Amino acid sequence: MKILVINAGSSSLKYQLIDMEGEQLLAKGLCERIGLDGHLTHKPQNGKAVFEADIPFPTHKEAIEAVLEKLTSAQYGVVETMAEIGAVGHRVLHGGSEFTQSCLVDDACEAAIKKCFPLGPLHNPANLMGIKACQAVMPGTPQVAVFDTSFGMSMAPKAYMYALPYEYYEKDSLRRYGFHGTSHRFVSARAVELMGGKPGTRVINCHLGNGSSLSASIDGKCVDTSMGLTPLAGVPMGTRSGDCDPALLQFIMNKYGYSIDEMLNILNKKSGVLGLSGVSSDFRDLDSAAAQGNARARLALDKFAYEVRKYIGAYTAALGGLDVLCFTAGVGENSSSMRASIAEGLEYLGIQIDPEKNQVRGKEMDISAAGSRVRVFVIPTNEELMIARDTRDLVCGA
Ligand code: AMP
Repeated sequence: MKILVINAGSSSLKYQLIDMEGEQLLAKGLCERIGLDGHLTHKPQNGKAVFEADIPFPTHKEAIEAVLEKLTSAQYGVVETMAEIGAVGHRVLHGGSEFTQSCLVDDACEAAIKKCFPLGPLHNPANLMGIKACQAVMPGTPQVAVFDTSFGMSMAPKAYMYALPYEYYEKDSLRRYGFHGTSHRFVSARAVELMGGKPGTRVINCHLGNGSSLSASIDGKCVDTSMGLTPLAGVPMGTRSGDCDPALLQFIMNKYGYSIDEMLNILNKKSGVLGLSGVSSDFRDLDSAAAQGNARARLALDKFAYEVRKYIGAYTAALGGLDVLCFTAGVGENSSSMRASIAEGLEYLGIQIDPEKNQVRGKEMDISAAGSRVRVFVIPTNEELMIARDTRDLVCGA
């Protein structure tokens, strides 16, 4: 079965076509500037040429039409006809507390995605637009929604509740949901597999990219995760502050006369390693600035490593010990210096990294030192493949 995986944003749409036989990527691409003018980049993986040009995309529907045209075209295509595409899997940010797993899109599922608009105001409406566009262009092809929040649904109340008046949970569903769930699910499941499926395997996964979060899981089931009601919580990120004293907001807003929207914009877009360093949100830029003696770039990198290390300690306590530590996403998969500085001083937890194996970039590797009690893995994440697997399982009734 061939599955089209869609990640629709408000003005963009990423896609991959995956052949589930051998889990092989057939093509991928990106529609940009939807609703403005429109630009398509289509990359077939079968040796055919890359297509890149401006194409008018008044709505997501025209974007999907263009994607299907390219997927089936003689010059850039990877399938003969649209009928070869057996199902579509959609990334949906927020499923609220209702979705503990992925689901076939039907009226109830669409209504639930809508109900979560207040919880995912930037993403859920766009995700639903992607679903609607596919329904219009590919009627009869089953669609599946894969929620970023479903991984966090196995957390116990003591992990997901905020210590706030209970009514905010009861009336408004305010709780920790966690994000990057599909990535955490993929990596933790792979870690358990690499441990031979040993029951009770305790894993901490560090998803470190432009957005960063950690999860603690047992047998691939989430026990705790660092993002919260929104992706602003947890460790510092490229531009997000991560955890900070909520009363700081009042101080800054009063002193500088900011509205709550302006304040949130600062916390989401101007903070994190960008805010600390004043250099960049990109970890490669920070590495080079720090190497040239920029003290604030050094501080931003040190702060990031320190906070990730503290979460590893906290999650080891939450899990009652640790079997596997994983690194994934842009920084986790590629930055040997960041992995080394995070693990520095964690020998007492049984975590020891082999400096030579730690040079690996972008591929799966056991980087534990001989004698390390905890196994340390680099596992490249693959959210699209996870979405495609869920889609196949639901459509084929596995
Ligand atoms: P992601 O959001 O997962 O795409 O990750 C993006 C982040 O990964 C950016 O901050 C990049 O600078 C960072 N990154 C990618 N490659 C490297 C590398 N070799 N060393 C350090 N950071 C990297």
